[in-house]
Order: sequence, then structure tokens, then C-alpha cells
Amino acid sequence: MVKITINGRQVEAKENAKVLEVCRTNNFIIETVCAHESVSPYGNCRMCVVEITTKDGKNRVVPSCISKVEEGLDVKTNSEKVIAERKLSIQKLMARAPKSEVIKELAKKYGVDSTPLPLEDHQNCVLCSLCTRVCAEVVGVNAISKINRSTDPGALPYTVNFDACIACGSCAEICPTGAISLEDKDDTRTMAWPYQKHDFKMTKCKTCSRFYAPTKQLEYISGKSGQPMEFFAKCIDDR
Ligand code: SF4
Repeated sequence: MVKITINGRQVEAKENAKVLEVCRTNNFIIETVCAHESVSPYGNCRMCVVEITTKDGKNRVVPSCISKVEEGLDVKTNSEKVIAERKLSIQKLMARAPKSEVIKELAKKYGVDSTPLPLEDHQNCVLCSLCTRVCAEVVGVNAISKINRSTDPGALPYTVNFDACIACGSCAEICPTGAISLEDKDDTRTMAWPYQKHDFKMTKCKTCSRFYAPTKQLEYISGKSGQPMEFFAKCIDDR
């Protein structure tokens, strides 16, 4: 364990723990866009910046999600330098997703009303990569990637491989701005990512006749778990 100070309060932290994680465990609120406890940190949105001073006096502003604690570290989560840097981060996010209500709300909170940066507008995508990380690290499918990613307006921020995608919806669930959506209607799940859309067939429960899950997702789970597909002929409630 190491001892660090956050906003004047001394706390203990596990060696090599990330500063963001330790701040949150100790109830210091830091808003983030690209961080999520289910996936590896990325350090992209830079909303989680904090000011740190090491034991030997080195002072800098760093993204807390990728910075490790060390003995004697002094952390400030809301200093003037931190707020100034977060405002710049918000301007970058505003340029990437000028119509996003989530980003507009964040900007309002920090008193940022415009951005000097050229607008990119990827249909609310802020390029945080939470979708690619959840798909690769949690689902284990790697169906969404940065291949062909471009910052040009109208270009694909991420490319979805529809053959690989199992329509599980995890990317829609984790997307911080609602740029990815899904809709279930009758026997079809429609998934929409910025500039891309695809329909997936759903499986009908033999007992209650409800279309309860995408067939590709059930096939994937069947392959992973070794349960035969007949097992998935009924929904969870009717098994
Ligand atoms: S819906 Fe497709 S792209 Fe999204 S997490 Fe699931 S498998 Fe990956």
C-alpha cells in the first residue's frame, strides 16, 4: 500500500492503482467520457485530468485514468490548472460531437459555450473507443474497429464488421453519447452506428413465442459454452 493525498485528505491506495480509481473509491467525483470500469483505460477524452505533485516536487496535470499512484503523491482534482485543462478537453469534445446533448450538458456545467476548433460531427461519436474496447475485451468479438477511421466530416469514425458482429448491444450500452442505438421489432434487431446500420434476425422462444435474443448472439454463446443450440430454443424465463 502507498499513502497519497487527495484534495488535502490522506488516503491509502494499492501500489500501481490508477489515480482515477483511487479518487473514486474515496468518493472524489471526477466526470469522465472515455473511462469505464469494465474496460482498459484509454486516456483519450482528458476529462479526468488532475494536478499531481510527486514527493520530489514534480508538478504536472495528467489524465488520472492512466496515471499510477506512488508514495507521497499529492493530487488535486479541481485546481485552477485542472479546470482550465478540462475546458480545453470539452472544446475538443464539442468539435467532435457538436450536436451531442451529453457534451452540451458537460460544456454548460463548465461554462464553455463554444469551441475554436473545426467541427467534425460524426453523428454524436466522440471517438472515445469505448465501443471497440467493450467489443474486444468484454464480448471477445472485435467486430468494431478503427480501421479506415478519419476525422473528415461524413467519414466513418469506426468500421463495423457485420459478419463478425453478434448484435449483443454492448457497444450501444456503453456509448456515452448515445451515438450507437438498437431497436428490437418483431423478429429483427436493428443496430445503428454512425453512418452504418444493420438488421439481425432474432430467435423466437418455443414456449412464449417472444423474439428474445439475436440468433447470432445465441450461436456465439452456444459455441463458447458448449451448450447445444436446442438449449436456446426457449427464453431464460421459460427454461
Ligand atoms: S453489437 Fe456487435 S459491434 Fe457492438 S459490442 Fe456487440 S458484437 Fe461488438
